[in-house]
Amino acid sequence: MLLRHTSADVMERSALTINPAKTCQPIGAMYAALGVHNCLPHSHGSQGCCSYHRSTLTRHYKEPVMAATSSFTEGAAVFGGQANLLAAISNIFALYNPDVIAIHTTCLSETIGDDMVQVIAKAKSEGKVPEGKHVIHANTPSYVGSHVTGFANMTKALVKYFAETSGHRNRQVNILPGWVEPSDMRELRRLARVMGVHVNMYPDTSDVLDAPHTGEHEFFPRGGSTVAEIRHSGDAMSTLALGPFASEPAARALEEKCEVPAEVLDLPIGLLATDRFIDGLRHRAGVRVPAPITDDRGRLVDLISDMHQYFYRKRVALFGDPDQLAPLAEFLVTMDMRPVYIVTGTPGKRFETRIRDLVADAVPEVQVRQGAQADMFLLHQWIKREGVDLLIGNSYGKYIARDENIPFVRFGFPILDRVGHSYFPNVGYAGAMRLAEKILNAFMDRQDREAKEEAFELTM
Ligand code: SF4
Repeated sequence: MLLRHTSADVMERSALTINPAKTCQPIGAMYAALGVHNCLPHSHGSQGCCSYHRSTLTRHYKEPVMAATSSFTEGAAVFGGQANLLAAISNIFALYNPDVIAIHTTCLSETIGDDMVQVIAKAKSEGKVPEGKHVIHANTPSYVGSHVTGFANMTKALVKYFAETSGHRNRQVNILPGWVEPSDMRELRRLARVMGVHVNMYPDTSDVLDAPHTGEHEFFPRGGSTVAEIRHSGDAMSTLALGPFASEPAARALEEKCEVPAEVLDLPIGLLATDRFIDGLRHRAGVRVPAPITDDRGRLVDLISDMHQYFYRKRVALFGDPDQLAPLAEFLVTMDMRPVYIVTGTPGKRFETRIRDLVADAVPEVQVRQGAQADMFLLHQWIKREGVDLLIGNSYGKYIARDENIPFVRFGFPILDRVGHSYFPNVGYAGAMRLAEKILNAFMDRQDREAKEEAFELTM
């Protein structure tokens, strides 16, 4: 009973957060920056922030995550971090030679009020930024938003700093993939390739955070979207922004800056959200859906139909990132499951409405909460009041799962105690099959574990 102090009596809280269902803005900014080729993320703050952000990403991806820091000490905390950052920019280009330094701020530098635009301009005017190299920034104070907001801010910064229009539209469709795994980004490209659609996708962490083991250490792995690709996104015929929280700000910025029309879709998690993504590609690029994609879909429907008796009316609690929770909840309803409790710590608009649009007809009793008090403690209280058959979320859910003896499927960020998430996609029809398989296995493992001897079945 690790969470033995959680009571079932829910009291409204206005200030206190207990075990937040989110993490820190700069982690998202760092993750987005790693999706740019030859880019070194830089944390403008103290060493402790940078260590935390790097270690969280490293533990989730099981890959070394490189990032620099302004290494604030007492002096910088009082007088500002300009001198530290100017020295850092010189040192980073001299020692590591990246194409891009992507600076994100932290709580401390935001509270001081360091002006990133001014410092970057000063670095350029003092010749600290070599010809052809770039320094960009995103403001990511962690006392607002979450890691998803940080990802969105850095993706928007890529548009603001790099996207241009030459005046000639090309046949490409931009994909802003949102916060998904490297494996998901690879799968999105594969789906587009099978559809015959030329896509320009950024950021792209495939081959960065799931790079093959070659025996050689590469400080900058081969993956990531290049600056030239991001620049050319201003000439694309349209943009598909996946996930309103992580991708819409960048899509709207590109629309405003380069007049590339944007369509915002849910992340393609599950059957119906993948249908909308495939349809979006088909519509935007004017292509037909080829047989291999239809076959993938058919296999998913077959799996759901074959195993429907295990899914039927199962009550599920979910927590995590809003862009992932909305299509995931919809997918559960598609399989006749009942997502009854949903919380996300990422603040913002339209989440509760979106969830209700997607699931309330089938699950009118659904309880949804968003923001600072939508935490793991509240979720646990709800579960104590009326139990669930399954919990889905990141590794922090294992405490609730253990205390309440609930089957648990790890999904989202961070996953610190299992592998596979960075190698096997959750998006698309194949990703949905994997999700359905994990859910089924969680139910069946429990049944096998707890069945009486006379009811212990070989065939299920
Ligand atoms: S919450 Fe603020 S102080 Fe804490 S690690 Fe994140 S950026 Fe640093």
